[in-house]
Amino acid sequence: MFKTRFLDLPPLLAAGGTVRLPGSKSISNRVLLLAGLSRGTTVIHDLLESDDTRVMLDALAALGCRIERDGRVVRVEGTGGALAAREADIFLGNSGTSVRTVTAALALLATAQGGRFTIRGVPRMHERPIGDLIDALRPLGCRIECTVKEGYPPLLLGDGAPHALNLSAPIRVRGNVSSQFLTGLLQALCLTAHAQDVVIEVIGELISRPYIAITLNLLARFGVHVRNEDWTRFTIPCDSRLTSPGKFHVEGDASSASYFVALGAIAANAEAPLRIEGIGSASVQGDIDFVAAAQAMGANAVLAKDWIEVSRGTWPLRAVALDCNHIPDAAMTLAVMALYATGTTRLTNIASWRVKETDRIAAMAAELRKLGAEVVDGDDFIEITAPGKWKPAAIHTYDDHRIAMCFSLGAFNPNQQAVRILDPQCVAKTFPDYFETLFSVVTPQEHGVPIITVDGPTASGKGTLASAVAQALGYHFLDSGAVYRATALAAMRSGTPPDDEQRLAQLATKLDLRFGPGQIFMSGQDVTETLRLEEVGALASKVSAWPLVRAALRTLQLSFHRVPGLVADGRDMGTVIFPGADLKIFLTASAATRADRRHKQLISKGISSNIDSLRAELEARDARDQTRSVSPLKPAVDAMLLDNSALTVEASVVAVLQAWEDRRPFKET
Ligand code: C5P
Repeated sequence: MFKTRFLDLPPLLAAGGTVRLPGSKSISNRVLLLAGLSRGTTVIHDLLESDDTRVMLDALAALGCRIERDGRVVRVEGTGGALAAREADIFLGNSGTSVRTVTAALALLATAQGGRFTIRGVPRMHERPIGDLIDALRPLGCRIECTVKEGYPPLLLGDGAPHALNLSAPIRVRGNVSSQFLTGLLQALCLTAHAQDVVIEVIGELISRPYIAITLNLLARFGVHVRNEDWTRFTIPCDSRLTSPGKFHVEGDASSASYFVALGAIAANAEAPLRIEGIGSASVQGDIDFVAAAQAMGANAVLAKDWIEVSRGTWPLRAVALDCNHIPDAAMTLAVMALYATGTTRLTNIASWRVKETDRIAAMAAELRKLGAEVVDGDDFIEITAPGKWKPAAIHTYDDHRIAMCFSLGAFNPNQQAVRILDPQCVAKTFPDYFETLFSVVTPQEHGVPIITVDGPTASGKGTLASAVAQALGYHFLDSGAVYRATALAAMRSGTPPDDEQRLAQLATKLDLRFGPGQIFMSGQDVTETLRLEEVGALASKVSAWPLVRAALRTLQLSFHRVPGLVADGRDMGTVIFPGADLKIFLTASAATRADRRHKQLISKGISSNIDSLRAELEARDARDQTRSVSPLKPAVDAMLLDNSALTVEASVVAVLQAWEDRRPFKET
């Protein structure tokens, strides 16, 4: 997952291949709570792993549920509705489904059984209204206190003493702010329909009905068959008991699918469509209807039982006017598709956007405008006209995963502008590997993927600097010295003499190297530490002088140049391997400083050494690197020289990041 402050998406050209979606958030969190409240053990397969499910699992654990995890399988032992813990402080992050459903269940259980629980979340959660749910629960006798502001979390549920619940009158809840209130009530009240039918009446229009359909579908899987009278009156029959279905498979997330359906419509060729696995026509999620909306805009889509294939149909896309009440989350993706459409797209009936992770109408309008679109927004609608000319933009994501994901689709713009996504890690809410998944199926514009090179002499600190810069930018990192060191190690192990150019080149061609985060494997064995040994480095500097060896290692090094970008360090990165690099750094430090650093490094590893001989060895290596016939060590003509003798690592990193920022087109606002 990208933990960077921002992620720059290079201009992208096409998409194709196969993606597998993470489990549905709506289903995962409902199933977790139902499993926790029901009788029996539920074995859940393909549960979504994300911030929202993590907080729900933590909440269940705090309530005394036993939870076991084995890879992608989670076992939840249900409580049968009996509180195992009487008190807990429950933190639910920014997960709306969790707050609404856990609150409803715990308010009832704490009141009936005598518990006392606090419910809280991140600051934004404390701005998201929950008054309608509280108003529905209090008439039943539920003890609920809003500890800061009436109608908003944090909440105190129960007062520690048991109180009888009054379930004889219908429970009334407003349906026009969030359907999650009704979901919370439906799930929780199943625990109380022992002696009589329990009736819930919806006041006003019920928005986001498809989410209620998911709830009803899942309740049925847990043995409770709710009677639905025209989405206005729901009856939980007397004697209903939540009973675990035993095994449960979570289907792929339909809202997450929307980004890839849109991706296919924007960038996949009909001969090689984008295939989305884990979801299809058999889905119980309302957002599967996004496919029809995308088709209306021109997507060419085939929907099978559990996969979807999408490619470009009409191009440019067609603007639509659509009531999005049935697909509120996925509709955000339509707003970004509108950037590729002729005409003005109008999305209506989306007032619920205002009370989501952020005020999504305001946020979408502001960010779409940054890209150059013309946007008109109102209380419950948004209108988007594509930009005449796209502008490079740094997209604020407002801690809203969906904004980060849908705006990534802006990278296919015809003006080949990169798109900066700020705080990209917010996708962890529902799709922690979103960007990696996206990058696995896209083709960048030629010469569009940025490269930063860091060359310099031995022990100048290139590796440390380059890997820190790569990390800060979320780019790939190539330690090219490692490929020469690996060749040297292979030569040592096979007894190949350092002057046998032919055999050394053969060894280099056959190297079986795998690079993990901070680790290097050779033929499956972790050689990270071994490669750093002085004798391996010394031999590397000899084998690297051979033209055939250098040629043999070229393709491997070039293969690191992938979306979203690359930082490469070595001796000839900016001169020979990546001569077209966007930023070239030539890092130096005095021989005395470098010898001193290496000395300290060795001491820290418990290896004794002599500083004078270290310096002599460094200088000998530099001389070899500088005077060899191929790829001699020298600064590229357009390199930025950075002498870090008197700089800390942090200061060098800041200097390089600043030089990079100066070359980027984004003005953060
Ligand atoms: O940078 P490092 O010390 O790991 O590199 C080991 C040796 O590999 C260097 O002394 C240099 O001779 C060689 N090398 C090279 N070209 C590169 C990187 C390293 O010749 N791009």
